[in-house]
Amino acid sequence: MATRNVLPSIFHRLKSTAAAPITAAPQLVSPPQLQNTPSTNNDQPIIINLENHKELFSSVSTPKLIKSSITLYMSSVEPMVDLGMWVMNSKMMETPILRDIILVGVEHSFFKHFCAGKDLKEAGETVGKLWDGAKIRAMLDYGLEHADGNESCDRNLEEFVRTIESTTSQPSSPVSFVVVKITAICPPNLLKRVSDLLRWEYKDKSLHLPWKLKTFQIFANSSPLYHTPTKPEPLTPQEEHDLESAYQRLSTICEKSLQANIPLLFDAEDTSIQPAIDYFTYSAAIKYRKDDGPLLYNTIQAYLADAKERLVIAKKSADEMGVSIGFKLVRGAYMSSEEKLASSLGVKSPIHGSIEGTHACYNQCASFMLQEIANGSGSVVLATHNLESGKMAATKASDIGIKRDNPNLQFAQLYGMAEALSFGLRNAGFRVSKYLPFGRVDQIIPYLLRRAEENRGLLSTSLLDRQLMRKEILGRLKSSSF
Ligand SMILES: Cc1cc2nc3c(=O)[nH]c(=O)nc-3n(C[C@H](O)[C@H](O)[C@H](O)COP(=O)(O)OP(=O)(O)OC[C@H]3O[C@@H](n4cnc5c(N)ncnc54)[C@H](O)[C@@H]3O)c2cc1C
Repeated sequence: MATRNVLPSIFHRLKSTAAAPITAAPQLVSPPQLQNTPSTNNDQPIIINLENHKELFSSVSTPKLIKSSITLYMSSVEPMVDLGMWVMNSKMMETPILRDIILVGVEHSFFKHFCAGKDLKEAGETVGKLWDGAKIRAMLDYGLEHADGNESCDRNLEEFVRTIESTTSQPSSPVSFVVVKITAICPPNLLKRVSDLLRWEYKDKSLHLPWKLKTFQIFANSSPLYHTPTKPEPLTPQEEHDLESAYQRLSTICEKSLQANIPLLFDAEDTSIQPAIDYFTYSAAIKYRKDDGPLLYNTIQAYLADAKERLVIAKKSADEMGVSIGFKLVRGAYMSSEEKLASSLGVKSPIHGSIEGTHACYNQCASFMLQEIANGSGSVVLATHNLESGKMAATKASDIGIKRDNPNLQFAQLYGMAEALSFGLRNAGFRVSKYLPFGRVDQIIPYLLRRAEENRGLLSTSLLDRQLMRKEILGRLKSSSF
């Protein structure tokens, strides 16, 4: 296993710059004015300014801006994305020479735009540039796919530990979180079995699960239970042993993160295995705590109809036990597979009936967590590229007196996406992180394909970034200021 301080020089340099203040944009409405201004959807005060491209992209060099602009444009052209996806899934990837050529092409285009590097060293350099240049923190995500057995889980554990150990132990670290995927340390088929048993236990309180640790309440009345139509068999001795090994891996990760004083962010997956992920996260949160805020953050997907109810229940459970836990709020990335599964079983989809339902749920979950922060007992990462949600949360936070640099309120976007929103929130004085995947190019391909899918279409998420980048590049070219 790797030794401590994998990136000593990089992080030493980062520590020395970490305390530099962020200058608030002059166009911002001042907080006193905000407090007197009612925040309605139609008459929202401007907390984040997304129009001043000069100010938004001031920390980005012109060559980087041009490259980003080209990559985002290429991602938005549908035939190009279709061709890229076809190539990635074609037999060409099975021919070593062709595969190498394709991977080099991917590395110098999409990979460079959306990923932090091929290993921890390159990722550390990207973290440094992001912090030095833009005062934006990083959520370090070692790009692992699902484990397929105990051996791969053990290998993945080593990578998580190496990632945690590479971060600084200073509170002003430019790394805000290390991302953990439970699917990388516990085989997904076991997560499915555990989820089935937890669901059945929720339906039938007399079911005894001998392996079950203390946890928060996982399900709500509105939670879908259709994945488990019949009583599941108890875990076999081998499964119990594997579950214990997975929990040991999680314990190692938590202990290392406590030593490094770096919080962990747990990704959410699809509903067939999410109950087990919640179970792991909540039981670890009860055991592993730090004094100055939550060590663990679980993810809530607002596209799920039961999201708000589950969030409130888990938060209430945590409060009753005196446990500090944070939540990352996302809309959710597995919509089509969730809908496919529900329709194949002939049941109602667990997702809100319309995108408006998801937007409303996201904003309600965000409001709930902001109120908890204002009351002194909440921590949230608002992970979204949605401008309205970003603006709404920024306005509400100011309205209810949450200081913009309050560490319990953080915003996050994926690296290479929603740059205007990230820079706008940062300029307004909020804490902003980018989610930075790193790892071998071939290993990151599934992540890149998901990004290509999200950015495809001229009206995609990246439209605002593309427009603002183009204006800024033209402005710089005119004034020849680079
Ligand atoms: C830092 C970060 C971490 C993330 N971690 C996770 C994670 O752990 N797990 C995970 O699942 N995702 C994760 N995501 C991805 C996230 O869930 C979204 O897919 C993505 O960010 C787009 O959502 P948005 O808030 O930017 O919203 P928008 O782009 O405004 O909305 C798009 C989203 O709305 C929802 N939606 C679209 N159409 C409909 C419809 N017809 N009905 C109902 N809902 C609809 C979908 O969730 C879709 O992704 C993460 C994103 C970020 C930025």
